[in-house]
Amino acid sequence: MRKPIIAGNWKMYKTPKESLAFVSAFLPLVEGHDRDEILLFPTVTSLASVMEAVAGTNVRAGAQNMHWLNEGAYTGQTSPTMLLSIGCRHVLLGHSEQRMYFNETSERVNLKLKAAISHGMTPIVCVGELLAERENSQTEEVLRTQVRTALHNVSAAEAQRLVIAYEPVWAIGTGATATPEIAAEAHAMIRHELAHCCGSQIAQETRILYGGSVKPENISALMAQQQIDGALVGGASLVPATFAGIVRYR
Ligand code: PEP
Repeated sequence: MRKPIIAGNWKMYKTPKESLAFVSAFLPLVEGHDRDEILLFPTVTSLASVMEAVAGTNVRAGAQNMHWLNEGAYTGQTSPTMLLSIGCRHVLLGHSEQRMYFNETSERVNLKLKAAISHGMTPIVCVGELLAERENSQTEEVLRTQVRTALHNVSAAEAQRLVIAYEPVWAIGTGATATPEIAAEAHAMIRHELAHCCGSQIAQETRILYGGSVKPENISALMAQQQIDGALVGGASLVPATFAGIVRYR
């Protein structure tokens, strides 16, 4: 019922030329693969050319962030209508690196999420606890606050295309992947919050991805968990063969 998504977040890596070289090498490795949706999130300078390069294939591309307004005096920002103008309909929101280094808040994620929904885009909202929060038994509380704030005043009808990514901050870029059981437990908490915010049908239908040091060696065990509907992959999505190995997990 929930088609898995395998998404690659390239963060601040790859020039347009390097991005296109990745796409040329990657597309043949995943040709015909339709068990999972495949998404790439390049940097903003590569996005338009990657969008063109993947057009008509089984791979889609999205933006790593966006503003909630369509235009204005907001230096350094990209708007929903600008993304739509190049055919981009997927956007990551609230990534922990945005929260940690650029003071992103769940309140702003809420504004961006509503903008994405109103433009018919597919938002992937990232949530996750810090190591200290996990060690202090605050994981459930942190996830509850992040989900409830991001989904404030979002109706069930509006949440149809919503995707959530559970990314425990202690697992991002550290090699310390959450065990499949820890990830599944957090996904169940998030699903519980989705039910609270948007009702049980949305909770059952929304895809929740796991992110944090996903590799070809650990993807199968993660995907074996019924709660886990895909992966958001950082470092291991930068090399075509490695990311294809994750996409083609068994
Ligand atoms: C990410 O950037 O969303 C991520 C999960 O990174 P990594 O796979 O490198 O831990």
